[in-house]
Amino acid sequence: MIRADIMRCGGDMSELRTAACLAVGSELLGDARLDSNSLRITAELSALGVRVVEKRVVGDSVDRIARAVEELLDGVDLLVVTGGLGPTADDVTREAVARALGRELRPSPEVESWIRARYAAYDRVMPELCLRMARVIQGSRPLLNSLGSAPGILIEVEDRLLAALPGVAAEMEEMLTRDLIPEVARRNPTTRVLTRTLLLGGVYESDVEERIKALYGDIGRENLTVLANCGVVRLVQSAEGDDDSASNSIDAVTRQITEILGADVAGIDVCGLEEVVIDQLRRQNSTLAAAESCTGGMLAARITDVPGASDVFAGGVVSYSNEVKESQLGVPVDLLIDHGAVSEQVACAMAVGVRERFDVDWGLGITGIAGPGGGTEDKPVGLVHFAVASSESVVARHRIFPGSRASVRLWSVHSTLDLLRRRVIGEEA
Ligand code: ATP
Ligand code: MG
Repeated sequence: MIRADIMRCGGDMSELRTAACLAVGSELLGDARLDSNSLRITAELSALGVRVVEKRVVGDSVDRIARAVEELLDGVDLLVVTGGLGPTADDVTREAVARALGRELRPSPEVESWIRARYAAYDRVMPELCLRMARVIQGSRPLLNSLGSAPGILIEVEDRLLAALPGVAAEMEEMLTRDLIPEVARRNPTTRVLTRTLLLGGVYESDVEERIKALYGDIGRENLTVLANCGVVRLVQSAEGDDDSASNSIDAVTRQITEILGADVAGIDVCGLEEVVIDQLRRQNSTLAAAESCTGGMLAARITDVPGASDVFAGGVVSYSNEVKESQLGVPVDLLIDHGAVSEQVACAMAVGVRERFDVDWGLGITGIAGPGGGTEDKPVGLVHFAVASSESVVARHRIFPGSRASVRLWSVHSTLDLLRRRVIGEEA
């Protein structure tokens, strides 16, 4: 137990630098549900310069929760607990926090009236067991829950801060953004952490690392994270300071990276290559259609995920069989016989065929062997041919992509979108 005599309310306003998240709920220990609340909490805190240094999940046991609260609070400036604040017998977070802090739980008429009002608004009488939630830990500030009945808790413990928020994501989100984040911002008035993500297409993670590693010395390794996902790489920059200094230093690093990587940088703070490509085509007033074999419509799905895709995207054909490649795209049967469905010739014929039949400016063709079966010595699993056709020419590439069926398909989508992106700007590698 953290001793009552060393605790004070309304303590120092020292800056909060480190935090821990404690997710309460026996269901989070099983195989059906993950602690996702802490991801939201981490994102919001990091923007204010608070680094989450530890996360834990505990079941609905007063002893375990109380022990976790004590241990975690001992090592951080801010502890955010979620879950277990409700009225049922397995909701014991309030009791556990009170025990860990050695503070009393007292009935609060104000909180009781919140809860009663909420029930009244739904024309219901508050069940007596809800009175459990109307008890407030001595010296804490109860947090209003407008989406559910369980109030949250905010407590100062010396110069540290403890928040307990409900487990239901929407309720957690409400208290996080309305109560906790403004409180953290008040304590960290000048610290802001800006992040910016540069999206790179058509590159390998290790090549990127090699080319930019000289920058690490200047900007700090921890301020630049390289995240790769099947043919796209995200460079996440972060900078801390007041608003101006953080944004100046982020701009400077972006300039340096862009100088080194040139056209490999597809976009800044965009969701994906599909967003970049749609934006490019919209500016050019150009239109697009796709003929997909091994990706089975994944590329079309990605494109149509972007709001406003209809400005540029006419449609596509999932031409899985040779018959459909022939009948719907006009791929000559001789090409299919002579070179096989997975060949440069067929990828090009698919791209040209879909462009003509859909009467668009750009046509895409993808054909490959996603695996796990179907590979041969000549055409191994992972081999994918992809092509981009314009009115002037058709450009094809092929790669042997690594990994599972899912990853070969994802690499195929990303690589095709990137080839289109590069053709549109006249920078095809
Ligand atoms: P309420 O009384 O509104 O239920 P509560 O604080 O008691 O609030 P819990 O009963 O612990 O919340 O959880 C409510 C729901 O939210 C459950 O479905 C639970 O699985 C889910 N949940 C709880 N914690 C998390 C978490 N960390 N991440 C994702 N989901 C969570
Ligand atoms: Mg509950």
